[in-house]
Amino acid sequence: MRIVNIHQRTVPISRYADKGLDRGTLTTSTIAIQTNVVREGQRLVGYGFSSFGRYGQGGLMRERFIPRLLKARPQDLLNDEGDNFDPSRIRACMMSGEKPGGHGERSVAVGTIDMAVWDMVAKVAEKPLYRLLADKYGDGKTDEHVPVYVAGGYYYPDNDIARLQHEIRRALDLGYTQVKIKIGNATLKQDMRRIEAVLGLVGAGENLSVDANNQFDLQTALRYGAAIKPFALRWYEDACDPLDYTVQTAIAKSYEKPLAAGEGQFSLQDARNLILYGGLRPEIDYLLFDCVHSYGLVEYLRIISMLEEHRWSRRRCYPHGGHLFSLHMTLGLRLGGTESHVGTFQPFGGLADDTVVERGYVKPPETPGIGFETKQALWDLLQSLGKD
Ligand code: MG
Repeated sequence: MRIVNIHQRTVPISRYADKGLDRGTLTTSTIAIQTNVVREGQRLVGYGFSSFGRYGQGGLMRERFIPRLLKARPQDLLNDEGDNFDPSRIRACMMSGEKPGGHGERSVAVGTIDMAVWDMVAKVAEKPLYRLLADKYGDGKTDEHVPVYVAGGYYYPDNDIARLQHEIRRALDLGYTQVKIKIGNATLKQDMRRIEAVLGLVGAGENLSVDANNQFDLQTALRYGAAIKPFALRWYEDACDPLDYTVQTAIAKSYEKPLAAGEGQFSLQDARNLILYGGLRPEIDYLLFDCVHSYGLVEYLRIISMLEEHRWSRRRCYPHGGHLFSLHMTLGLRLGGTESHVGTFQPFGGLADDTVVERGYVKPPETPGIGFETKQALWDLLQSLGKD
């Protein structure tokens, strides 16, 4: 059993469902790991991509991480039994020769390859990824389904509030009950109008979260916190710079309602610093580490162990990245919940094409691996890898 070839390509993605809106310059990387394992007459391939919000990683993967995997002795990438690939050994191979620290320089590239590795490993085991995770890292049990909220609520260049409400209505019509919108790219007054417009649709404050995308200084973060406190929102996310633990602590001291953070922590060490020095409260706050951006699922498993050592429940984890990989992790590792993208970041965002959302709860597909095959537009794109 061995890796035969690895193909990658950087592709553009958009935060908007409306194709007429300027998509900006954001990209993500796609990757295909081709093996010599044959299933139903075809070579088994593991697929992955770089989640959302950071750019494509082609250069790093081409220059460092892919060559190391292709040069490795095949047996060094397998488990002890030799009947499947070993994600931890593959991760160790990718990191050979890398110095500790400076995680963000490479963690997304490694995490992107890691997603394809888990798709490949679950396909070799002929299990959906959530089942493999529950069997290997839990007691085999999973929850019945996963709570998801819809992430989006970006600013529209014109007719913002009407279009925002249209976006939220569409999510509610699909069966979602909770949503998250952006704040901080308009005046506080205008942001309050947006919040009130969405609350008019979702009802209670617990059905709405707001996300400042890490851009506030302390004073602005506190001003926003004071303004939104009366709404008792689900959470107030990413108020300040992710690595500014002094400011994060000051915000937590002032804002008595739930906060969410962690999407900008790109390693076990960064996650531990957030827990130790960020002032967050295990009873009410949420942790949004993006598995793909922080070296992948091998690292995420270590982060969960660290959390539990520090008396944080894994139920406080809502992994960032509204895609199938986060959904499998959340069900298989019994985390709290996750997000979903409806129309945004297509064709990568969201769930399988035939997923039915039942009052805010969903399940991942039952196909072996991550189930990209169940999202036709994404599947077409991934299958084209290596064919140019
Ligand atoms: Mg965020």
